[in-house]
Amino acid sequence: MKDNCIFCKIANGEIPSHTLYEDEDFRVIFDLGPATKGHALILPKKHYDNIYALDDETASKAFLVAKKMAVAMEKAFAADGFNIVQNNGEPAGQTVFHFHMHLIPRYKGDNAIDFWKPGSTTDEELTILEEKVKKEL
Ligand code: 5GP
Ligand code: ZN
Repeated sequence: MKDNCIFCKIANGEIPSHTLYEDEDFRVIFDLGPATKGHALILPKKHYDNIYALDDETASKAFLVAKKMAVAMEKAFAADGFNIVQNNGEPAGQTVFHFHMHLIPRYKGDNAIDFWKPGSTTDEELTILEEKVKKEL
């Protein structure tokens, strides 16, 4: 646990929360400022600042929890769609610096999330970007 991290405290039960799901590694809670009805968060019990800090095992398990919750929440809330969102770094919208995944049920016409406007690119640019990424893998 990291000192003064609100999500460490919630994930480890130091601060009580409505818990939708819990296992050895994760707690799933409702977001206090929900984008839609049922918006929830997957919190690992161990502290990781962001996705870059995650170990492979936790990353794999997190997505299994996301799948399990999406299936259950879609049914429970009769959702028409579902977004899984995960922000890293301030420019990407991260405000709590303890890794978490957003589970956002969507309802027809909710207009709850406006992610991005499609831009444009070129084959040359994509070739350069592809090479840059491959060097880091
Ligand atoms: P981020 O912007 O970092 O991806 O998401 C942080 C989310 O945590 C926001 O959607 C915000 O509403 C939610 N949040 C912030 N503080 C608390 C809290 O104390 N309890 C809960 N349940 N959610 C919180
Ligand atoms: Zn933390």
